[in-house]
Formats: sequence, C-alpha cells, structure tokens
Amino acid sequence: MNAIDVHTHAFPDALAERAIGELEAAADWRAVGSGTVGGLLASMDAAGVDVSVPCAIATKPDQAAGILRWCCDIRSDRIAPFPSVHPRTPDAAGWVRRIAGEGFSGLKLHPMYQDFHADDARMDEIYGQAAEVGLAVTLHCGRDIAFPQDDNRSAPVRLGRVIDRFPHLALICTHLGGWRSWDQVHRYLVGRGPNVYLETSFSIRFLGLRRAADLIRAHGVERVMFGTDWPWCDQNEGVQDIGGLGLNEKETGAILRSNAAKLLGYGCPTMENTKNSQSQEELSA
Ligand SMILES: [Zn+2]
Repeated sequence: MNAIDVHTHAFPDALAERAIGELEAAADWRAVGSGTVGGLLASMDAAGVDVSVPCAIATKPDQAAGILRWCCDIRSDRIAPFPSVHPRTPDAAGWVRRIAGEGFSGLKLHPMYQDFHADDARMDEIYGQAAEVGLAVTLHCGRDIAFPQDDNRSAPVRLGRVIDRFPHLALICTHLGGWRSWDQVHRYLVGRGPNVYLETSFSIRFLGLRRAADLIRAHGVERVMFGTDWPWCDQNEGVQDIGGLGLNEKETGAILRSNAAKLLGYGCPTMENTKNSQSQEELSA
C-alpha cells in the first residue's frame, strides 16, 4: 500500500543531531530516526510511504525566509514540505502569499513553539490570507508532550472558533484534532467541515483502536489523513495502526493516501509532481 504521510519533521543535516537531542530532552521522548531528509526517505522506503510532508516551524520571526529557502531545496516528488511563518514575522500575510507562489500546498503553525493562542485575533491575517490563496494550514492541536499539560493554546475549543471565522480555510488538525483533548475534539471539531481535516499522528495508540475508529467515522473518513510525526513515531507502525482500525479497504486507502493526494495535488503514486520540481532561482534572489 502506498501512503502519504502528511505530518513529519526534518532538519538540515548539519543541525539535525543537535535539534533532535534538544527536543528529546524537552519532551522526554526518544526519536526513532535521525531527523534528516535522508533518514526520512529511508524510513519511507521501509514503510511503503511514497510521499512525506515535513512540517517546518518558524520558532523566531526572522526564520520565515530561511525555512522557505530550505523547503525549496529539499522538495522533490517524494518530499512535499510545508514551510512556516511566525505570527510576528513582518508582513506575515506577504509570506503566506510567497509560500503559495512558490507552489507549496500548505504551511505549518504551532501555537506553543510560536507563542500564540490558536484563536488570537492577530492570527487572522495569516489564516485569512491562507484561505484566500488556497494554502492549507497544519496546526498543532491539543496538548504538547514538551509543554505543561495545562497549556491550552491549541485547545479544540479555540480551533472551533478559527473554523467559525474561516470556514473556507483547509485546516489540518494534527493528532486527531487534539492530543489528549479528544473529548473536546468530539465537541468542537468532529463533523465540522467540509474543509476541516484530522491527521492521525500520535493519537491511535493513545486513544486505542476502537475510540480512534469511532472518532474517525464520526468526523468522516474522507476528511482524515495519515500522519506519523516522524521522527517521533515510526512510519511502519503508523501504517499498521491505520490497518488495525477495522475500516474497509477503500476507507483505509482514503486515509493512507487518496484524501491527502487530493489536498496536496498528487495523482497516482508514480506521477512526477511537476508542481514540486519548479526552479528555485527566484527564491535565492
Ligand atoms: Zn509534529
């Protein structure tokens, strides 16, 4: 089975070891991979994942440019990065337009690492611009393993308000809508649509197969996408977890691949993604 993993992370080779070490210490959680693009590709080969989406996070306002440049450097027919912009990056909306203009399908935001509440009014220019240019936004949802457990900046109730304000925004909610906040997910996110997607990383093994399957069915199989958060979880195990949900073959295929393929603009597994092989000259200007 071919799969698209919509939630992974990768770092430049020179930084990966240190970044992974620091994140491991902060979260008290061991990585299963090196965190490099090469390591990600090897993991994908072993797990039968044909495309991965490394999600970048701009933890400082001045990182938007470097991240966009790096995302252009690493993208290929198998690597479809989501760049990032910081809420305090000057002209954040302009960066959203630039990301779309470079042919990317989405961007990643993380309320804890970027210090904002998901429903802050100051985020509206980013959400609004992304909706306008058709860029998906992947948002960390629920609690975060590396932050105090009462940190509610990404709580599902806040995401619900974002959806109220931007119903046309394609919103990818990680961790099935809210890590360790799944009761709230049922209340504020499940069934919201048609542009609200739930991503499966770091959730099925915490929820259990049955509760996870119930949540997925309640939301709608056509708006759930496979993700692993690699290198924080194993892609092979992630694929197996989807297979264990008790869904039929068509539903499993939708979650593992076709829902994401539609959103990211991919066709059949072997097609070259012309969108991703554009020249990078303009960016280095
Ligand atoms: Zn992640």
